[in-house]
Amino acid sequence: MSLANTFPEYRAKMEYHCLGCNSRYDIKELHYTCPECGSVFILEDLTFDELKKTSGKEWRELFDARTATKKDSLRGIFRFYELFAAVMEEDEILYLGEGNTPIVASSPALNKITGIKTAYKNDGQNPSASFKDRGMACAFSYINALLNKNNWDEILTVCASTGDTSAAAALYASYMGGPVKSVVILPQGKVTPQQLAQPLGSGAKVLEVPGVFDDCMKVVEHLADNYRVALLNSKNSWRILGQESYAFEVAQWYDWDLKDKCIFVPIGNAGNITAVMAGFLKLYELEIINELPRLFGVQSAHADPVYRYYSVNDPKEREYKPVTVQPSVAQAAMIGNPVSFPRVKHFAEKFEAIGGKNAFQVVQVSEQQIMDSMLLANSNGHIACTQGGECLAGLIRAKELGLINENEMAVLDSTAHQLKFVGFQDMYYQNDFPDEYEVTPDASKANKPELVIKSTEKDSLSEEQYISKAADNVVSMLGLEKK
Ligand SMILES: *Cc1c(COP(=O)(O)O)cnc(C)c1O
Ligand SMILES: [Zn+2]
Repeated sequence: MSLANTFPEYRAKMEYHCLGCNSRYDIKELHYTCPECGSVFILEDLTFDELKKTSGKEWRELFDARTATKKDSLRGIFRFYELFAAVMEEDEILYLGEGNTPIVASSPALNKITGIKTAYKNDGQNPSASFKDRGMACAFSYINALLNKNNWDEILTVCASTGDTSAAAALYASYMGGPVKSVVILPQGKVTPQQLAQPLGSGAKVLEVPGVFDDCMKVVEHLADNYRVALLNSKNSWRILGQESYAFEVAQWYDWDLKDKCIFVPIGNAGNITAVMAGFLKLYELEIINELPRLFGVQSAHADPVYRYYSVNDPKEREYKPVTVQPSVAQAAMIGNPVSFPRVKHFAEKFEAIGGKNAFQVVQVSEQQIMDSMLLANSNGHIACTQGGECLAGLIRAKELGLINENEMAVLDSTAHQLKFVGFQDMYYQNDFPDEYEVTPDASKANKPELVIKSTEKDSLSEEQYISKAADNVVSMLGLEKK
């Protein structure tokens, strides 16, 4: 059997490290937040330095060889097993087709508009149609390992969410089945039927709480403090680990050469940008890459606490303040008090220490720019969600501000599939955005279906007459000319 198909022997010694009070906890237990101070954890491999005995070149060759593997345990995000969660046994790893999402270069026409080479990484092509699957694959594999070790007969996975987190959690829970029961807690009446469809279809128990998302969060955290439940919101540090795979995949796609690459990521609860930074830093430490890319976080002016923090130039003057959000089309990033902010600070300092002051920046964009950019991307062959539109808007903004050179290229994160957020496209085309969104549709961009023939007219005609009439109408609607 080739090296690429051999499950790794290396096992990490991992610990939870609290970013608030620096205390450390064994991973034998399922911790959500620090029992001492309530702050968030990052998971650290205490034996990481052992990985340095393998050269960067050897790592690159190993990971490249694994791209051809047929082993489920190494096909998805766990292709990079040694780098992030090397504590699960092979049969504990879940693979539902997550990771390995395509990077699609933009068309010449779109590149001309942006002024630099652009590409989208389509994380909407994950199984539940968002990047959240990366983190869930890791979190559920860990739950699987816990079940094995503890012989538990039941575990309840819980999350508060209105969108992609619950869709992903419910999907992985339904695959595991058996002792795993999935519960999703949603704010009553505040979710659309589409947002409900995924967890319902996966068979999760869906509970509704009067109030808003924050009320659901409080209920869920109370449960986690007092009962044996696995909380899957993004404070869960196993999810962050799994999401590091995004960085590994970007690096690998560009043959481990990130010179002149600018990576754009939308920021909501800030778990994703945390993971992307952590991932690139690991590759750098192991000399798998020789240079960090430049990283741009993007926030809407309607939900921009991280932008506000970093917009103050002098680090000593910076002050973190939650904001009150306004409605945003980048709904999955509409968060005023990101739980992973301490993690962002932690990794951004390291990122800047290596890559310099311009290695990590946050730009702010308007709702109008987000919508216009999403439509621009998708009318040029992409499948970007509103958050993907936010990334393109961020690139255009960064160029305007002179933050990007012509010789650089941009990799934009479409964090979900276009189809999940299609309601906002409808609002644009129908020109019925509520005022709070501050989006004024450009009528020339509206695309609507046109009726070829009325059904009453169809009923009055014979089959033959109907086909000929309908075809005539199409000819005049399109202005077709005879061959
Ligand atoms: C969760 C989510 C985000 C925001 O990611 P964070 O990790 O919370 O910053 C952006 N886009 C989509 C589609 C998401 O589901
Ligand atoms: Zn603590």
